[in-house]
Amino acid sequence: MADGGDTAREVQLTGWGRTAPTAARLSPVHGEDDARAVLAGRTGRGLLARGLARSYGDAAQNAGGDVLDMTAADRVLDIDLATGEIEVEAGISLDRLMTLFVPMGFFVPVTAGTRYVTVGGAIAADIHGKNHHVAGSFAQHVAWLDLLLADGTVRRVGPDQDAELFWATAGGMGLTGVILRARVRMKPIESSQILVDTDRTPDLDSLLTLMTDSDHLYDYSVAWIDCVTRGARMGRSVLTRGRFAQRDELPARRQADPLRYGAAVRVSAPDLFPPRLLNLATVAAFNELWYRKSPKRKRDQLQSIPTFFHPLDGVGAWNRIYGPHGFVQYQFTVPFGQEAALRTALERISSSGHASFLAVLKRFGEGNPGLLSYPSPGWTLALDIPVVPGLAGLLDGLDELVVGAGGRIYLAKDSRVRPELFEGMYAELGAFRAVRRQVDPDGVFTSDLARRLNL
Ligand SMILES: Cc1cc2nc3c(=O)[nH]c(=O)nc-3n(C[C@H](O)[C@H](O)[C@H](O)COP(=O)(O)OP(=O)(O)OC[C@H]3O[C@@H](n4cnc5c(N)ncnc54)[C@H](O)[C@@H]3O)c2cc1C
Repeated sequence: MADGGDTAREVQLTGWGRTAPTAARLSPVHGEDDARAVLAGRTGRGLLARGLARSYGDAAQNAGGDVLDMTAADRVLDIDLATGEIEVEAGISLDRLMTLFVPMGFFVPVTAGTRYVTVGGAIAADIHGKNHHVAGSFAQHVAWLDLLLADGTVRRVGPDQDAELFWATAGGMGLTGVILRARVRMKPIESSQILVDTDRTPDLDSLLTLMTDSDHLYDYSVAWIDCVTRGARMGRSVLTRGRFAQRDELPARRQADPLRYGAAVRVSAPDLFPPRLLNLATVAAFNELWYRKSPKRKRDQLQSIPTFFHPLDGVGAWNRIYGPHGFVQYQFTVPFGQEAALRTALERISSSGHASFLAVLKRFGEGNPGLLSYPSPGWTLALDIPVVPGLAGLLDGLDELVVGAGGRIYLAKDSRVRPELFEGMYAELGAFRAVRRQVDPDGVFTSDLARRLNL
């Protein structure tokens, strides 16, 4: 298909949080020619690539302009079974990569908490997983990518070729161009099972100590924190950590087929949840049940990939349970040494009266040269909160706390940070703007997020 414009439609687009819909002309892209055709026929409102729309806010929206739906460009172009390097089109999802490659003994190098993320979206947000402390973020596993630029040319960039443009694109939220293809280094695995250790911790301090002392013993680590309970038990949590099992660590009956993999959406949430379904009482009851049913201490439990990495993917469209007003995901990082700010944030959240399901806490390792790449050494906390009156004040206050502690928020989750506060979060923002001006002087690639934050 040569002309993406033929099947373009006017649509309302939102992110996963279902807030702030805007209208755009959405064109399916099956390959480079389609993307180029839309680029040539764009209006003054510019264009933007969009993957599976798992970013929560307005990162994949472009009000009044063109949006490229990349999900039809999903072919595997090359596989090197000796090294585990694969060459793919950017619209392929991590879900598909797992289905294809886990049976061959390769796992994605980094996965988000959902597998419904495209490779293009994974690079553009430079996503992190439970293994950041040992493996870094997604872009660190990309050998090169092909980028369609505003002038219609395609440039191959990587950490070793045109590194500046590569590191502006990794985490650059689609604003340097369209990622068409990428070469990704997969992770070799002997089995599709993860050996998991679980620890329940009674409060925040014991959790931070446990993670600091022993996260390095595990490839994957994540803590789920109860954000409703206050007082001495504030920050009580369930910490799960693990690594892929070797074949001889599986039960005998599984050893014949150690790489068997299947992931399914078991049920789908209907679109009829009332606005106030998730209130403080229902969420507190859920959190209590969840904490009590988790083992206090368990070792070497075998879990499947979907159970360990993507528990939420078992329920399709679960974002609907937050009701018609949608929800906000708030994710921030504070550097090591700023644990007091983390504690204050948690105190404010748990005493705010806003119902938040479990929050997720991870410990980041070293960052990378990505100019807007989110991970940097420290603690990162992510929580979902339904949109209700009064929420903006709480979150604005948290932003100030985070900036004051030398921290930052994650663009892939954001829908509301104030631009003047954002300026103080990313030291390389000026460098990012300079690269963008150089490769796209007219600002052809743009988004609602870019306009809101003057990126
Ligand atoms: C349940 C859930 C759990 C999550 N867990 C995590 C997590 O653990 N870690 C984490 O880091 N993130 C996490 N995320 C966020 C998610 O990984 C990122 O938002 C990711 O970018 C989504 O990819 P996508 O394909 O849906 O991209 P979209 O949301 O469609 O787009 C995201 C950005 O990527 C750009 N983009 C997409 N494709 C291209 C392309 N081909 N070329 C150029 N730019 C492109 C878009 O312009 C946009 O700026 C989670 C999201 C959900 C819903």
